[in-house]
Amino acid sequence: MEGYEVLVVGAGFAGSEVAYRLARSGRRVLLLTQSLDSLFLPVTPVTEPPAGDTLFAEVFEEGLPPFLLHARAKWRLEAERPRLHLQQATATGLLVEGGRAVGVRTFEGPAFRAPRVVLAVGTFLGARLSVGRLEEAAGRLGEAAYDDLFEDLKGWGFAFLPAEQRAAPYKGAPGYRVRFYRFADDEWEPATFRLPRLEGLYAVGACVSGGTSYRDESESGARLGEALLRELEHPSGEGA
Ligand SMILES: Cc1cc2nc3c(=O)[nH]c(=O)nc-3n(C[C@H](O)[C@H](O)[C@H](O)COP(=O)(O)OP(=O)(O)OC[C@H]3O[C@@H](n4cnc5c(N)ncnc54)[C@H](O)[C@@H]3O)c2cc1C
Repeated sequence: MEGYEVLVVGAGFAGSEVAYRLARSGRRVLLLTQSLDSLFLPVTPVTEPPAGDTLFAEVFEEGLPPFLLHARAKWRLEAERPRLHLQQATATGLLVEGGRAVGVRTFEGPAFRAPRVVLAVGTFLGARLSVGRLEEAAGRLGEAAYDDLFEDLKGWGFAFLPAEQRAAPYKGAPGYRVRFYRFADDEWEPATFRLPRLEGLYAVGACVSGGTSYRDESESGARLGEALLRELEHPSGEGA
């Protein structure tokens, strides 16, 4: 589909909610993520129930295995076609024109464009995962993290702070730790989700919070979706 209104990078709990909220209201969204098999996939079993009007609440069921939660969410997102386009690709850098983010470049080759770009890349910026003495570049167990986007964002002047998340041993899988970077506090406006360094750029989820909970990240994704809907209806002050 041509002519996306919003490009969301990262289909975790936060990014998926943004895209779902927009598409359900008839907006054209590209949800680009590096692995469709880990879309809306919790790192650990979900114990805290979801918040109200969210995709998470639609698919949650107590005791549901993580992969079934993922499968249900993917099915719902796919059902929003053609307004929502799910694209598997890894963003390597921003496309910027006249101080405005207008899309992303990808490792796979094609660039994708939209007048609003949302970064929802979770625990993957500069991520290093440790299991015992082994360390690898990964944002979660089994999913590599590539440093290109992180390096590109630093090149645009963004500042970051270190963050860390840990997973306890679970059903024979070892416990592990992920160290990563999140945007520094003064790079991000919590009320608007904007990264004011570049027009048209927003961020949500663990890449700004450092990781709170599935419930909170999904709820903030839904809030950003609502904020973007309002903006799309009343696009005053827009530079493009
Ligand atoms: C080890 C560990 C343990 C955790 N344990 C818990 C827990 O027990 N309970 C809890 O509530 N929370 C836990 N969390 C935090 C949890 O990850 C967050 O609450 C939630 O998943 C964050 O959602 P998100 O959408 O911001 O990011 P994520 O769920 O991390 O999603 C980000 C998505 O972006 C994609 N992506 C990243 N970079 C790119 C790129 N360059 N191009 C395209 N796609 C990209 C990734 O593939 C991923 O799908 C844990 C996190 C980690 C790392």
